[in-house]
Amino acid sequence: MHFGKLKDYINGQWVSHTDAEYLKVYNPSTGEEICEVPITPTNQVEAAISAAEEAFKTWKNVSMEKRVKYLFDLRDALVQRHEELAQSIAIDQAKHISDARAEVNRAIQITETACGIPLMMTGNKFAINEDVDGEVIRESIGVVGALAPFNFPALVFGWFIPYAIGCGNTIVYKASEQSPLFMQKIMEIFEEIKLPKGVVNLVNGTKPVVEAMLNSPIIKAMAFVGSTPVGRIVAEGSAQTGKRSQVLAGAKNTLIVAEDANMDGFIQNYINSAYGAAGQRCMAGSIVAAVEDVYDEVKERMIKASKEVKIGDARDEDVFLGPVISQKSVDRCHYYIDLALKEGANLALDGRNPTLPEKNKNGYFVGPTIVSEVTPDMKIAVDEIFGPVVSLMKFKNVDEALEFFNNSDFGNGGSIFTESGLYAHKFLREANSGMIGVNVGVPASMPYLPFGGTRSSLFGSQIKAQGQDAVDFFTKRKACTVRFYGKN
Ligand code: NAD
Repeated sequence: MHFGKLKDYINGQWVSHTDAEYLKVYNPSTGEEICEVPITPTNQVEAAISAAEEAFKTWKNVSMEKRVKYLFDLRDALVQRHEELAQSIAIDQAKHISDARAEVNRAIQITETACGIPLMMTGNKFAINEDVDGEVIRESIGVVGALAPFNFPALVFGWFIPYAIGCGNTIVYKASEQSPLFMQKIMEIFEEIKLPKGVVNLVNGTKPVVEAMLNSPIIKAMAFVGSTPVGRIVAEGSAQTGKRSQVLAGAKNTLIVAEDANMDGFIQNYINSAYGAAGQRCMAGSIVAAVEDVYDEVKERMIKASKEVKIGDARDEDVFLGPVISQKSVDRCHYYIDLALKEGANLALDGRNPTLPEKNKNGYFVGPTIVSEVTPDMKIAVDEIFGPVVSLMKFKNVDEALEFFNNSDFGNGGSIFTESGLYAHKFLREANSGMIGVNVGVPASMPYLPFGGTRSSLFGSQIKAQGQDAVDFFTKRKACTVRFYGKN
């Protein structure tokens, strides 16, 4: 299946470019080329920004009820096209189809929550004294820019577009050049529900497109999800041009296993956390930190359960582990495994040459991999790898494991596995991370709670995604002081 040359969607029109460079996109399950994605030329990025600027003049004054009605229509269309949307993610990102369906479900839930924007956008008013009132009102910001990573096309669309436009802004959205298909379908939906032209504009490509957005004085805020190094470019570029920015970035999440953990529960959660979406989640558990009393048991059970993980094509229902996004990503996994071995770790389970179905021989696969006896000074314990490669580490006790967890440069998420209220309480109080859990493999927050980390996992404005936080990011607040004397 080849989807041809993809188009941008600018000012309510599908736009193809004769003068653009195109990048080839491959299905990571098979290595087959599936489409070509443009690097939107700078003048067309500027056209998208101008369209959004023009549309903002009217859209900001569209009544709240009407704006939210579009979100209800969007939500209904997402439900109707659920399977088609999930399949698009299973093709270009090769997220396993069950996971892709779950992601689209989550995007629907986020959109449903965004339908409550009228309540979340209320300001407040109070009497300062007898004849003076103070009030805080929320207003839209203007044109916003958004940049998506490859690994969550539906989730990130949900974080940014419904909230941005529901709050009265217009948006220029850049899909990931590695997984662009989902957003093509979303723009078809906006066309179907007759969203006014210019309110949502889609551009594609990579670095030069981002630069054109950062350089634009018209864009007032940049919302970004992706790796930490690129996030730094976005935060710094935004600051230089006076934009607010929200940067949800990389991660390295730890699952601590205490001596009293329910081992069956841990193993079930570990498999999902480490190998779900091929370890390419910002909430993936990529380190297992076991206390020494149970280290050997944890290691043995991890190896046994990981060997049972079925690997293959992301669209085959009975598979659990699909490919990673690219050959570069396979190479990165291999690089970190080799380096860890040189640094003194052991390979408890080697996923470097997995057995694959014939049709997937040219895909980008890494099997479940467990690198054991990893110590805090090794690169594999520190850097984000973003693949199905887990580091197993031994600590004397929960205190030491927690200290390691808190020393990470990243702070997106992590969990403790324990049946002890004391350990759980300690972890909830002391873990320095944005999203934490007890006996939960992927403690990603629900659509109405703030989603985001801390330290190198979240920077810029420090405002998180979803719910009230999203409304805070996509609005500005104005404090007013009002007095009337009454006529003399
Ligand atoms: P990435 O940083 O490579 O790309 C993100 C976006 O930036 C893309 O749209 C890409 O086109 C653009 N980009 C890439 N290189 C650029 C450059 N040099 N200059 C300007 N723009 C550039 O990230 P990715 O590989 O697509 O996504 C995976 C990363 O995203 C991981 O680090 C993961 O942890 C992170 N992530 C974080 C969260 C979170 O909530 N914190 C959620 C999902 C993904």
